[in-house]
Amino acid sequence: MTLDTNINEIRSDFLNDLKKVNTSKDIENLKIKYLGKKGLIQSLMSHLKGVSNTEKPLFGKKINDLKQEVTSHLQNELCQISNKEEEKKLASEVLDITLPGKKNFWGRSHPISLLMQRAIDIFVSMGFSVELGPNVESDFYNFESLNFEKDHPARDMQDTFYITDNKLLRTHTTNVQARIMERSDPPIRCIAPGRCFRNENISSRSHVFFHQIDLFYIDENASFADLFATLKEFYSKLFDKDIETRFRPSYFPFVEPGMETDIKCIICSGQGCRICKHSGWLEVAGAGMIHPNVLKSSNIDPEKYSGYAVGMGIERLAMLMYDIKDIRAFTENDMRFLEQFSL
Ligand SMILES: [Zn+2]
Repeated sequence: MTLDTNINEIRSDFLNDLKKVNTSKDIENLKIKYLGKKGLIQSLMSHLKGVSNTEKPLFGKKINDLKQEVTSHLQNELCQISNKEEEKKLASEVLDITLPGKKNFWGRSHPISLLMQRAIDIFVSMGFSVELGPNVESDFYNFESLNFEKDHPARDMQDTFYITDNKLLRTHTTNVQARIMERSDPPIRCIAPGRCFRNENISSRSHVFFHQIDLFYIDENASFADLFATLKEFYSKLFDKDIETRFRPSYFPFVEPGMETDIKCIICSGQGCRICKHSGWLEVAGAGMIHPNVLKSSNIDPEKYSGYAVGMGIERLAMLMYDIKDIRAFTENDMRFLEQFSL
């Protein structure tokens, strides 16, 4: 059988095969059968060996022509089949214009983030800078530098998640205080917002994590009067009305004297209501003058400098502000709850 006959046979076989094509998958199969590496046209090349040198260019050209012919047929056919398949698909799709549209979901900030940001904005407008510290902290910055010596009974006030003997999840954002004092000279005036962790039973009143803003101010003549004025100004701005404050003696190892800060009830203005448990006052923050030992541990001279520190819980503030009775609502991710907040 001559090479010419071979070429013609493959051509007529191909044209026959082409008539039977129905889908793009059939085209793909033909492509492999005729144009593939082990395909029929490639096999013709091996027959070229037996052809005389003078005839080789002629047959080479004939094989190439066949290859181009097959390629162009397949491309045309594929094009037509694709169009048909697309038309068929569109015809089978039904557009129901009576279906209700998809509702867009608008994201929003979590109420704790909203309140946190608002509190930060107020402190920044009062001249405080914002400092952040690590959630995983050493015993030194969380306790020791803050006058909680080892075996100090006050450590029991804050049930702690220990990672190793020396590493723990910070129990307050007061851990930032010693870090800032170490690297800055007074006057220092900053706030430390962030998340804190305590190994407590989860209930409507307490959670294993919550948010806090600590503020502290250290200067040559920082006084109780500065602390009172700062807190009164902050709460008045936060609640957008003149807020009365009062202070009760309390104990925290890192302050001396220490106190609890109350504000006059924002709901009943001191008349007594359910929120303030009929006392007319709401407890909002722990505060005090920074203990001389804390200043000393960061090489700040307590004879020359004094300072105040305040720690406030953000969840506590949010619960008062929005009359939320259960702290767990903040972490349950119930959209019906979360959708209600915008400051
Ligand atoms: Zn009240």
